[in-house]
Amino acid sequence: MNYKIALIRGDGIGPEVVNEAVGVLEAVGEKFGHSYEFVDVLLGGCATDAVGKSYPDGTAEKCRACDAVLLGAVGGPKWGSDRPAEQRPETALLAIRRDLGLYANLRPAALRPAMADACPLKKETAEKGIDLMMVRELTGGIYFGKRDRYDTPDRGVECTDLMAYSEQEIERIGRRAFELARLRRKKVSSVDKANVLETSRLWRAVMHRLAAEYPDVQYEDVLVDNCAMQLVRDPGQFDVVVTENMFGDILSDEASMVTGSIGLLPSASIGDSAPGLYEPIHGSAPDIAGQDRANPIATILSAAMMFRYSFQRPEEAAAIENAVDAVLAGGWRTPDIAEPGVTPIGTREMGRRIREHI
Ligand code: NAD
Repeated sequence: MNYKIALIRGDGIGPEVVNEAVGVLEAVGEKFGHSYEFVDVLLGGCATDAVGKSYPDGTAEKCRACDAVLLGAVGGPKWGSDRPAEQRPETALLAIRRDLGLYANLRPAALRPAMADACPLKKETAEKGIDLMMVRELTGGIYFGKRDRYDTPDRGVECTDLMAYSEQEIERIGRRAFELARLRRKKVSSVDKANVLETSRLWRAVMHRLAAEYPDVQYEDVLVDNCAMQLVRDPGQFDVVVTENMFGDILSDEASMVTGSIGLLPSASIGDSAPGLYEPIHGSAPDIAGQDRANPIATILSAAMMFRYSFQRPEEAAAIENAVDAVLAGGWRTPDIAEPGVTPIGTREMGRRIREHI
């Protein structure tokens, strides 16, 4: 196959980690007989420096002409909140997700076998294994609802943020979760606050309707407060966890912490039509940019997700994941995950070792 991939290298460590992921993609191409056309797309602080805005005209069109998008990270203190919105990297990130219609955010939280010691939970909990997929609704709910701020005569300033969901929005994210569960261990945990919120009661009703359509998938409702607790008590019980935007924002960060390091975790944002956007969960880490210290694994595993979810090529995805596990099992560590006494290796060497294992 020939794949056309948009590369948003971004700011800080973004270009360094994307470079290593591209090297791994090329190694996979050689092994499995694929070729690529890489299209560089300027977005983020580097775009502000080059053309005066973080989301240059035509960015979405360029991405839409590709099969998938790989993003490093954007942002940094140079383009802070004192800048007008069109120069801020975060504006570009929200815009690209919106313009590509990416309503489902997939964040796997898996404890890689060689990293069990990095898990902050009890040893016996970590030993049971953690391998869950958080599916977060990304374009609705309270983050996108109407906001208001007004003066009151007797209570000072009052503010409101509206949380709204339609059946259609809930159904499409729910379907994603059930379809994903069929490719995994066939269990969906739907997280809501149906004992309090009307949006959650609708969420639950739609999920129950879907559950009846997928009788081969085990289904459960979990209240959000209980889910937060279960994620640290016994995360091994979860397979696919599906939830609305704000709950997902909070729970996915909690879930990623139980796996040890921010430098290891990939993510995917997908919609109904190509291209999906694949990126590490970490930011641009300006404190270590340009020092060959960044861990490229999260970006390399994002390329594995690209093969699995955009290209429907699970074998290539597994080849990348197995290569990462082999290098970690060999004891190789970048500084962020190096145990005391271990001499760490750099970004480039980590990339090279993973390529060698493909
Ligand atoms: P960050 O994830 O960039 O860094 C947090 C800490 O983790 C830092 O100490 C950093 O050195 C370390 N770290 C992160 N990734 C690493 C890696 N691959 N290898 C080794 N260490 C790593 O978060 P932050 O400091 O809060 O944000 C920095 C900038 O990144 C901000 O401008 C923020 O807005 C932006 N950001 C962008 C994205 C994105 O592009 N999707 C996501 C989060 C933050």
